[in-house]
Amino acid sequence: MASYHVEASPMTKATKTPKRIRPSIKHDPIHPSDYLKYEIAMACEDCSHFKSDDATCSLGYHTIHHRRETQKQSYELTGKVAICRFMEID
Ligand code: SF4
Repeated sequence: MASYHVEASPMTKATKTPKRIRPSIKHDPIHPSDYLKYEIAMACEDCSHFKSDDATCSLGYHTIHHRRETQKQSYELTGKVAICRFMEID
């Protein structure tokens, strides 16, 4: 009995996505009518930990993912925003 060995070409070979080192930021959907009706606190600018003079977080987190402009752009593109789990509102 003859056996044949067929080698997959690079175009058909399945490639695995490398495992993430850390999880990506969770984005939450907001209903469009709620987004328009309520002033939802979801940006660093609304948070007690945000220092507006140098745009940093007192907890040491990167603020770029939660800044108002980023949130607005994300919502307009996907209907979702990345709400920070450590946000505090006075
Ligand atoms: S705790 Fe979160 S929302 Fe508040 S300033 Fe830091 S990164 Fe922004």
